[in-house]
Amino acid sequence: MKKAIYQKFIIILILALVLCGSIFGASISNVIRDRTRDDMLYILRVVDHTIQYNEEFNPQLIELKDLTNSKRIRFTILDLDGNVLADSDVKNYTAMENHSSREEVKEAMQDGTGVAMRYSDTINVPLLYVAHISSNGNYILRISIPYSVMKDFMGAFLPTAFISIGVALVVSAFLANGFSKSITKPLNEIAGEMRKLKEENPEFNFPKCQYDEINTIADTTMQMAKSVKEYMDQIEFEKMVRQEFFANASHELKTPITSIKGYTELLENGMVRDDTMKKDFFSRIKKETDNMTNLINDILMISRLETKEAEVVISEVRISPLVKEVCDSLEPLAKECLVSMELNCRPLVMHANTQQLRELFNNLITNAIKYNKPGGKVDIVVTSEQNEIIITVEDTGVGIPEDAKQRVFERFYRVDKGRSKKMGGTGLGLSIVKHVVNYYNGSITLESKLSVGTKITVRLPMK
Ligand code: ADP
Repeated sequence: MKKAIYQKFIIILILALVLCGSIFGASISNVIRDRTRDDMLYILRVVDHTIQYNEEFNPQLIELKDLTNSKRIRFTILDLDGNVLADSDVKNYTAMENHSSREEVKEAMQDGTGVAMRYSDTINVPLLYVAHISSNGNYILRISIPYSVMKDFMGAFLPTAFISIGVALVVSAFLANGFSKSITKPLNEIAGEMRKLKEENPEFNFPKCQYDEINTIADTTMQMAKSVKEYMDQIEFEKMVRQEFFANASHELKTPITSIKGYTELLENGMVRDDTMKKDFFSRIKKETDNMTNLINDILMISRLETKEAEVVISEVRISPLVKEVCDSLEPLAKECLVSMELNCRPLVMHANTQQLRELFNNLITNAIKYNKPGGKVDIVVTSEQNEIIITVEDTGVGIPEDAKQRVFERFYRVDKGRSKKMGGTGLGLSIVKHVVNYYNGSITLESKLSVGTKITVRLPMK
């Protein structure tokens, strides 16, 4: 690019010099022509005063030509009809044709003075003619000189012109070099900053240059680079999370499959003969398949929430019947765990997806039952405050240790893996709750004390 700018600059410079030179040459040539014409007219006036009109003209003209000491000057005297009466350069002037049609003669006849320029085939140069009516008004005096002003002019000025063009070119070449550098340098710097995108923690930095437009481009590019970097990091992070999730999910699925395989092999080989043992094996197989089903359902739920599925059906959900339905379905589990439930729900309506809300309540209440103590209690309160639904699920259970409070929302994180598995937990329940809460731009808080109990509060905007 630097080379291209440099080359274009030099081409423009040469064009400018040629154009300038031509205009300058043309105007100088005009000025010189006008000056020459004035000088010739002056000479004609002098001739007019010098000539004795009552004597023979030709010897006088030859004498005058000698006086000028220039072979190039030619004098002619014509009568008012255009007939040549004398000529300093033509001996046989009487044989010369009538000059009344010559431009300068015609003009002089009309206005008193005439000027013309013609190419002379005899001497191969353009000639400048000036004709003027004599002071007594009876004759036309004419003077001509070869007019090769450009040639003379070039001869005199060409060396100077070449030197000045050369100097201008050298100076401009230096300036053009500096100019192209001043443009390409900031652009190269921007490109250099862009290359930092591959670095771990790039610090984008562009020192301001003298061109506002390049500074604007640089600022925009730096901002874009920052956004691209953040986006790339985000993608990288999501890729990592996904990989970890798949690894964990496969691991979680592997365990029940291995157990099921073990039990079926034992049954198949006829190793288990006792009927009660067989029954026990079948019920274990069923338990493992239930665990797998729970896990697969939870994984599907998470993936649906993550992709923010387009076909999520949103409707007016009546909260009270929904929580009641969830509590009723969990009654057997509560009984099994010797836990009592108390529900206190205001008649509220929320613009949401029923299945997602059902999952949220189900996971929170199931946990409150599962991680409770025999004889414990679960309190479910649903109320509202300034366009927000506030859900609190409080239990008198085992509680969550301080260091695990943040982590319980991570996928597959369990405080007590054995207890969770025994209760059919997947380690995904609270993660799903968090996803649902985020889906509705809500918030979630957790308060817990070991051996005392846990209180989870969820706030969801109603619309
Ligand atoms: P899980 O399927 O194991 O219950 P969750 O994601 O629902 O998975 O919960 C993660 C972990 O957080 C649980 O394994 C449990 O250790 C802890 N936990 C969740 N809710 C409670 C609660 N109400 N009381 C005590 N511990 C809880």
